[in-house]
Parts: sequence; C-alpha cells; structure tokens
Amino acid sequence: MTLPTEAMRQAMASAEVGDDVCNEDPTVQRLEAQGAQILGKEAALFVASGVMGNQCALGVHGKPGEEVILPEACHVVEHENATVASLWGLVTRTVTPTRATYLLPEDIEPRLRRGDDLHEPRTGLIVLENALSDGTVMPVEPMRQIRALADDFGVKIHLDGARLFNAALSLGVEPVEIASQVDSVMICLSKGLGAPVGSLLAGDERFVEAARRRRKMLGGGMRQVGVLAAPAILALTDGRARLATDHENARLLARGLSSLKGVVLDLASVQTNMVWIRIDRPGKSCDDLVHFLAQRGIHTYPPMHRAVRFVTSSQVEAEDIAVLIEAVADYL
Ligand SMILES: *Cc1c(COP(=O)(O)O)cnc(C)c1O
Repeated sequence: MTLPTEAMRQAMASAEVGDDVCNEDPTVQRLEAQGAQILGKEAALFVASGVMGNQCALGVHGKPGEEVILPEACHVVEHENATVASLWGLVTRTVTPTRATYLLPEDIEPRLRRGDDLHEPRTGLIVLENALSDGTVMPVEPMRQIRALADDFGVKIHLDGARLFNAALSLGVEPVEIASQVDSVMICLSKGLGAPVGSLLAGDERFVEAARRRRKMLGGGMRQVGVLAAPAILALTDGRARLATDHENARLLARGLSSLKGVVLDLASVQTNMVWIRIDRPGKSCDDLVHFLAQRGIHTYPPMHRAVRFVTSSQVEAEDIAVLIEAVADYL
C-alpha cells in the first residue's frame, strides 16, 4: 500500500539503465551490491517480487522429491500457490511451532531426514521467516541453534525476510546478524520500505548465479530495469529509516485500541508494524468493522482467522492513528 516518494520518482526519471539480462544495467548492479553489503552476503539478485525471490531460492536449494521443513503459517505455504510443488517438485513438511510463534530447534530436529532409509525422502532445506507473517519476530539465538542443526545434517536454510529490517529493528540487532544465520535471504523492497516494485535475493556467488538461471526460467529476466532499481536504492536507505516511526505508530494504535471495551488485543504480539484485533461484543464482528472503516476511507484486508490486521506504513502518520482509534470506538 506504500506509494513511491517524490525522490523515488525523480530517481526513476534520471536512472542510468542498460540491458540487465546481459548484466549491463549499472543501477541494478548498484542496488544488488548495496543489498549484498547490508545483508553481509557475497551477492544479491534483483527480482520482480518476494514470491519470485523465494521460489528462485527453493529451486536452487531443493531437488524434486525432497522435503522442505517450514512453519505452517508461513508465506510460502499460505500465499505462494503451491509453487513449491508445481515448479520444483518439492514436498512441504509443515510444522506448527510448539512454544513460540516461531520454530524452535526442538520442532525441527525430529523431522530432519537424511534419506538413508529407503522409505524416507531426504530433507532438502529449511525455510524460516523473520519477521513472521503475523508481525512477530524470531530472536537470533534460536536461528543460531537451527543453523547448527542444519549444518550437522548438511541442509541449507532459506530465510523469507520480506520484513527482515522490521525484525532487526524490533530485536535491536543489525540485519547482518540475522542474515548470517542462513544460506540465502529474500527481502522485500516494496511493502514497508516503499519502493514501487521488487525484492532482493542474496547469498554466496554460486547461489546467486544459480538463482539468476531460475529467475530467467520464471520469466523474470528484465531488461532496462534500472528504472525500478533506482527507487529501490532509496528504499534501502530512506525507507529503512522510516520503519522506527511505523513501529512507534503501531504501538500507539495498539495502546489506544486495547483501552476500548469489546476489542481483544495482545499487546505483547505487537512487535513490528502490525496490530491484530478481535471483536468480542454481541452483534459486532470483524467483517462489519472492516466495512465500517472502509466507508471512512480506512483500508484493511478482509479478516483472516476471524481477526483484523492493521499495518502501519509511510502512508500513515500519528494523526491518522487517532482517527482510526476513534472510528473503531464509534463502531463499537
Ligand atoms: C509479501 C510477502 C512475500 C511476497 O512478496 P510479493 O512481493 O508480494 O511477492 C513473501 N513473504 C512474506 C513474509 C511476505 O510478507
């Protein structure tokens, strides 16, 4: 829902471009180098979307018939149309986290398979998410432990880091501390960072070259795409700087909503830029609330799992938060 800033539009208009399929777009190369550096990886690849980034990674790390261990409610499972199976022939081994919103080593270990028993497939890779799709974050320590486990089994880890910078901010760590626990990482430049289009997929040189081939297979070899890389470079700088305000606004919203009778909200779950609420009041519902808010020009997605998700971004200022809280109060 974020829109490009004026500076982004200027950067698009004046971007130096070339044919990126022939590695000749200097603006794309600048973006990829900058992204790789921030993530502490050898190289990065500009891709059209987060889904494309995740799928290129899955296609490189996994072989047909292998299993992917991943959290049940993650984006790859919920929102990527089973491409994991239809494109790469991988099998999802979904795991429900037992003691946290994220997977712990104890959730993963019993499911790792070396494939040396003829009845069993081999575990091809582990996919983690940080921040998670529900807006909570996974601390670095369990990631480190899962890294050790994966190394022991010779299994790669891919991180869906669509909101990696939100996670890093929330945890008070540098993005590289999170990214260094995994073999490959995807970050979204759109979403909270505010670029109009695009994601980056980072890893070592060999991985990125293999991912470049998968990207081509998916039709994602783009020509003078420097016009999109130029605003994405600003997303990595200015866009990142904005996230602290988004998190603050989310906390402001959560505090305001939690004081309303009929709103069910877990303040501890507000860790990044998302606030989830349920409605517990006779005759009132989340579906109704969403319609009510839409009439006032406040947009939310349709309720998921009987809850409404509010997301703060550069399109939302503290004054808007007050308007929203008042609107929910009016509805109730
Ligand atoms: C949005 C999102 C993606 C996919 O990004 P698109 O650019 O919409 O394809 C992947 N993973 C997570 C966790 C996301 O939130």
